[in-house]
Amino acid sequence: MMQRKPKKTPIKGEAEAKPTNIKGTPEKIKEPKPLRQSRPAKTPIKSEDKPVEHPACSICGKKRLIAIKSKKICAVCNKKRLVEKGRARREAKKQKKQESTGFLTNKLDKIFSIYVRLKYADDNGNVQCFTCTNTHHYKAIQNGHFQSRRYMSTRFHVNNCRPQCYACNVGLHGQQYIFGSNLDKEMGSGTAETMVLLSKQQKKFSAQEFQELIKYYTEEVANIKLQKGIVD
Ligand SMILES: [Zn+2]
Ligand SMILES: [Zn+2]
Repeated sequence: MMQRKPKKTPIKGEAEAKPTNIKGTPEKIKEPKPLRQSRPAKTPIKSEDKPVEHPACSICGKKRLIAIKSKKICAVCNKKRLVEKGRARREAKKQKKQESTGFLTNKLDKIFSIYVRLKYADDNGNVQCFTCTNTHHYKAIQNGHFQSRRYMSTRFHVNNCRPQCYACNVGLHGQQYIFGSNLDKEMGSGTAETMVLLSKQQKKFSAQEFQELIKYYTEEVANIKLQKGIVD
């Protein structure tokens, strides 16, 4: 028979001694906080149990997370739609700008100016100013208007425009008197007066008219260059 070990009797003073901190003062024994009353357990949401079955997207047919519930459009298709919308908006804005009167007037001014300067140029591309004896390369001369450019009815009229040097066109404000008398000499008496009267009439070009004129003068410029052998 094994003898039972006698229970260790705690040495007096060891067990009874309260735990002390460094300072030797008795530590307060913290009472355990009472447990908070736990809330009643949530009823589990279905998705936590099994993955949600998304409805099929009305565009791609895939069962993805829906971004627009009313139209059943998935997040991927919706993103695509937004990108496309933005692109279309920018395109429309660009289109609107390109059909604006300002834009088309400017475009026609440019091509009509080249046409007038090339028309009177020699095969080397040189052209004499209509109101003085100066000769310049067609790229270095301007398209002078007998009646001001502000009159739309004569702005693109072939009898109202001639190549003119910068000095005459800008410096001498167009030399209008000489311009008019030279027009009459070239085109017949009364041409200048006809232009004056015509300039007083209201004229509003439609986008289509502008585009047709731009097309016409673009082709004319190409033809003249070909005829005169002017490369640039
Ligand atoms: Zn989709
Ligand atoms: Zn001149």
